[in-house]
Amino acid sequence: MNPKGCIFLEEGINFESNSVTDCCISHNDGRGLPVIFKDYNGEMIDWEKVFEIKAQRVNAQKKETIYDCDGCYRLFDYQFKDEKKISEFHFSHSRVCNAKCIYCSDEYSSGTTNYNTYPVIKDLIEKGYYKAGGEATMQGGEPTLMQNFEELVDLFLQNGTVVRVHSSAIKYSQKVAEALSKNKGSVVISIDSSTNETYKKIKQVDAFELVCESIKKYVEASKDNVIIKYLIIPGINDNLNEIDGFFKLMKSLGVKKIAVDIEVQYARKHENKYVSPHIYLLHDYFEYLAKKNDMELLTYSFFIYVLRNRKISKMRFMSNKFFFNLVLKHHNQKEKNIMYCR
Ligand code: SF4
Repeated sequence: MNPKGCIFLEEGINFESNSVTDCCISHNDGRGLPVIFKDYNGEMIDWEKVFEIKAQRVNAQKKETIYDCDGCYRLFDYQFKDEKKISEFHFSHSRVCNAKCIYCSDEYSSGTTNYNTYPVIKDLIEKGYYKAGGEATMQGGEPTLMQNFEELVDLFLQNGTVVRVHSSAIKYSQKVAEALSKNKGSVVISIDSSTNETYKKIKQVDAFELVCESIKKYVEASKDNVIIKYLIIPGINDNLNEIDGFFKLMKSLGVKKIAVDIEVQYARKHENKYVSPHIYLLHDYFEYLAKKNDMELLTYSFFIYVLRNRKISKMRFMSNKFFFNLVLKHHNQKEKNIMYCR
């Protein structure tokens, strides 16, 4: 039998605001994110050192599950390849953003960290440690504001890596559109609203029209690779009018893929606010409207937990405590939930 393992442990690199790690997964009360370098700020990397650190961890993992990975839902029976190659990239380091979402941590919406990873990845390729066929996920902050973002996307496109971008779409990226049109990438955009007024309440910036224009252009590049997300925020967009308007807007922009989730960060930040008692019905309504408008509906992870809860208990008034516990449960659970990683 193969030992348990994970592609990120062997072939992954994740850039954080002040460190480099194997993956961007945090689980089980602080495990995960196996550290490669601490106190990192965009310096050029000694790749031999990276593979030395990775080999030590992989060899330990082959004997027994290591502390960082113990309990992680990404751990499978895994055939280690013992190559000195990186194929999976995560860019989680940017703390610069062009929105100020009410649910986001201040660290992300008002930070300044934004070091340049383009020369680092170029160096990896030039030194022969790069492996095509993997994925590069860009999140943030707002990834399109990362230094040399367009060049970085281009580098991946030229070298056979699929690019996944989580963007506010306030800034449009020609290179992301190119990746979508070539079926070499996807973009997830959380608009959470159907009007300028609601958008401003949630994002705290005046950019609704810009976002709609970007969505339209991305959809023109590829309908299949654009996902527009609606995070349900108690007391702000958890009403049928807003959801009706959202579907009308999506239809007018040509969107085919919708994602829905419950915004748990907001629930955690606002202890005294109660989450909509009709949360299950909202999901039913999303399903109904997606079907009616011939759209694909993706339900993301926190909503999946809530829907499971529906099967075991009658509809009830859920407090933020419930959602806080849900977050803990999510971080402690061991089953696969690939959806959340996308
Ligand atoms: S098993 Fe989990 S914690 Fe370990 S490297 Fe893979 S994703 Fe990261």
